[in-house]
Amino acid sequence: MTTRRMLLTGALAAAFIATPAAAQDAGSRKLAVATTSIIADLARNVGGDRLEVRALVGPNGDAHVYSPTPGDAKELAAAAAVFVNGLGLEGWLTRLVAASGTKAPMIIVTKGITPLRMPDEEHPGKTVIDPHAWQSVADAKVYVANIRDGLDAADPAGTAVYDANAQAYLAKLDELEKEVRTAIGGIPADRRKIITTHDAFGYFGAAYGMSFIAPEGVSTEAEPSAKDVARIIRQIKKQKLPAVFLENVADPRLMEQIARETGAAIGGRVYSDALSEPSGPAGTYIDMMRHNVREFAKALGGRV
Ligand SMILES: [Zn+2]
Repeated sequence: MTTRRMLLTGALAAAFIATPAAAQDAGSRKLAVATTSIIADLARNVGGDRLEVRALVGPNGDAHVYSPTPGDAKELAAAAAVFVNGLGLEGWLTRLVAASGTKAPMIIVTKGITPLRMPDEEHPGKTVIDPHAWQSVADAKVYVANIRDGLDAADPAGTAVYDANAQAYLAKLDELEKEVRTAIGGIPADRRKIITTHDAFGYFGAAYGMSFIAPEGVSTEAEPSAKDVARIIRQIKKQKLPAVFLENVADPRLMEQIARETGAAIGGRVYSDALSEPSGPAGTYIDMMRHNVREFAKALGGRV
């Protein structure tokens, strides 16, 4: 017995001695939690090696209608910082934060962005705030600046790292923004019209001169009525809109029905509110924007 226990203890000790650097690294990285996969990717680019970032709503997940898990509350409780979109996206967050007892600072990454308002499908005559600001690269740069400032405050020892990472990543976003403008500029102006399942591309449209229509509003919470769908079908036929797009966070059947009834082509799958799996076509924010723009340009006769 004694010998066996000693052997086991020895083996355990050897295991620890063999991996001290790895164990230490994992231990010294701060944990941050982001509500969505898109915000998590932006935060990883700022946090670099100092930060482990987890997303509550993972790849292809729908942040509008998310149901938090007990594991989410534990992650929030352990987090050094929490990154939140705000603008009404995460209706489920307040209760989760209260349940978790977290003391982590809540960093609203849209702070300073002028919110767009959209007609409220549920309450005619009223408007509702559009939360999808990340679809404008200029606004994503504001997200990054807010993430950097939040990390500088939450972990002052890392300020130099966070500032340098943010600066390098912001330069990449500048390049991305030029690419997006060039690609959209190559689509004939009268064809810059897109139909998606839900109204997720308002900021994209406002920034790059494209119009989007959708049978669902700015949230996926309410199913579109038969009347909404009929209205969209009439609009597509009247304006001879060439393509409808599927979204990674939405059920494809509605768009497939609309495509059948209007003769519009299915322009491919675009990523609206969540990234793809890391190995997919939209595993990072930059890849997501490139992929979406390529799909739009391909379907609408732009240069790809
Ligand atoms: Zn959305």
